[in-house]
Amino acid sequence: MHVILLIVAGLVLWPILHVSKRLKDKVICRNCGSIGRTVVISPSNFWVELLLWCSGLLPGVVYTLWCNHAAYNACARCHARDIVPVDSPVGQKLAAEHSTDVTPGVQATRQ
Ligand SMILES: [Zn+2]
Repeated sequence: MHVILLIVAGLVLWPILHVSKRLKDKVICRNCGSIGRTVVISPSNFWVELLLWCSGLLPGVVYTLWCNHAAYNACARCHARDIVPVDSPVGQKLAAEHSTDVTPGVQATRQ
């Protein structure tokens, strides 16, 4: 009974706790110059999370909340955190410096 309750609680709470932090706007990476969407980098490990959820509700919730708090947006190409919105003055300057194609999904190249 206890295990079933934990599984049900995990199934209900997991989507709520894993709220996506992904940015909607296009960004340019200061590290590699690529333009595009971001990826969310999280320190979470599925097996650790599963183990903690199975060991009790509180450890699972705490671990999931910590992972969600520690997650960050990064460049989809090099996973650097140093990204700026393309439509910002700094982003436009970087895009001009890298002479990039701003078509969505196209990776930029250095010259
Ligand atoms: Zn990058």
